[in-house]
Amino acid sequence: MGTVRALRATQERVLRAAIYVRISQDRAGEGHGVARQTEDCQALCDRRGWTVIDVYSDNDLGAYVGKPRPAWERLIGDIEAGHVDVVVCWHPDRLTRQPMELEKIINLVERKGVDLATVTAGEVDLSTATGRAAARIVGAMARHESEQKAERLRRQKQQAAEKGLVSGGGHRAFGYERDGLTIREPEAELIREAADRVLAGETIASVCRDFEARDIRTTAGNWWKPLTLRQMLCSARISGRREHRPGKSSTAIIGEIVADAVWPGIISTEDSDELRAQLGRTGTGRITGATGRVYLLSGILRCGICTGRISGHNTGRGRRYYCPGAPGSTSCGRLTMGMDRTDIHIRDTVLLALDSPDFRERLHRRAKVDPAIRTSVKNDERLLSELDEDRTAGRISRARWLQMSDTVNARLETNRRKLAAVPSLRALEGLDGSYEEMLPVWEARNISQRRAIVTACVSHIIVNRAARRGPVFDPDRFDPQWLV
Ligand SMILES: [Zn+2]
Repeated sequence: MGTVRALRATQERVLRAAIYVRISQDRAGEGHGVARQTEDCQALCDRRGWTVIDVYSDNDLGAYVGKPRPAWERLIGDIEAGHVDVVVCWHPDRLTRQPMELEKIINLVERKGVDLATVTAGEVDLSTATGRAAARIVGAMARHESEQKAERLRRQKQQAAEKGLVSGGGHRAFGYERDGLTIREPEAELIREAADRVLAGETIASVCRDFEARDIRTTAGNWWKPLTLRQMLCSARISGRREHRPGKSSTAIIGEIVADAVWPGIISTEDSDELRAQLGRTGTGRITGATGRVYLLSGILRCGICTGRISGHNTGRGRRYYCPGAPGSTSCGRLTMGMDRTDIHIRDTVLLALDSPDFRERLHRRAKVDPAIRTSVKNDERLLSELDEDRTAGRISRARWLQMSDTVNARLETNRRKLAAVPSLRALEGLDGSYEEMLPVWEARNISQRRAIVTACVSHIIVNRAARRGPVFDPDRFDPQWLV
């Protein structure tokens, strides 16, 4: 620092100092609250022998956002009125974070001959070109810092997430009391039920419809919609874990698991991982197929002529499955069959297959998940959050961060797909014993649940042309593609 007029002037008379302090939103930064700033400034004035005429304190939330700062306005007024010889602040960025404000101060200082001293950056002599340049640089840096504030706030949220703290605001989470920590058992039971049913292959929409029929509502008092239910079932919360969703990307229904939470889980972490793997991706059939699948075998049956998916509809001739042959599609439209006979035939085919212990044994062997995949998913989720940390702390370059997170994300996606592809045998729970014993269980289940039983056994069922034309039902035209 060069020679400063304030220092020269000290020899002649006691200077009147105005301390300006401001707390910023950024509590993660220097962590200097108003009290500490004031103390430091006061100490500086004492050392210099300046008389503090007043402390101007703005409990502000960032000059950058342009909120009114009453103490700041008062300070400007007092400078204008000639009551101030030197303005003391903790750091130049406490004074102003906007270039326009800085120019205003420079102008004022020029006209009034006021000096500026800071605790951390020494004296800034705005009466010289060098001093002004320095102030502008500091100002520009402060501005840059302001612009990074959002990033730091995001980081703070992530830290809170990592600590497993309860985040406030919004509606009460379904399944928990308002404290976010205590399980509300009747709702928790519904979460477990929904999780089990969806893991058993029932569609989200089917569970929603059932909830509506039972007058089960969200904590906001609304009916459960597929998206809402999906979000809840995918949330790490219900497994007693914290997740962090980076950015505002609305498509990211699942974030990274960052920590065990302070609240207890309602479902197991294994079930949660499976739900997140199945439902976390957008645009999969399991999610969007929620709307129109009211028939047992639509989409499961494939046309033996064109291999297209067979649809169902209710016509004047009764309920029928048919190859749609829609204009512009590749399907042929040449196949049709009565629905009721077909449904009964496939039901019997599947239940008779399940009657065989050997078939069941093979299903169970196939349904085993390689534990290494689960471990890899967990590790990669952690790795991603560590990468974010490293990037935020500036330990790695942006290019490196992008490269590494792309690699990890790709592997994560592959493994999540693998997990989602493992057939779930939950649909078969309670469906034990002989064909006769299974029949009433089947009849007690809804269409979505029955579909899940079928798809736990077959990938699809090919329907060939009937051997004979006419109304006679031909069971031999069906060719189930068994999973095992
Ligand atoms: Zn066809």
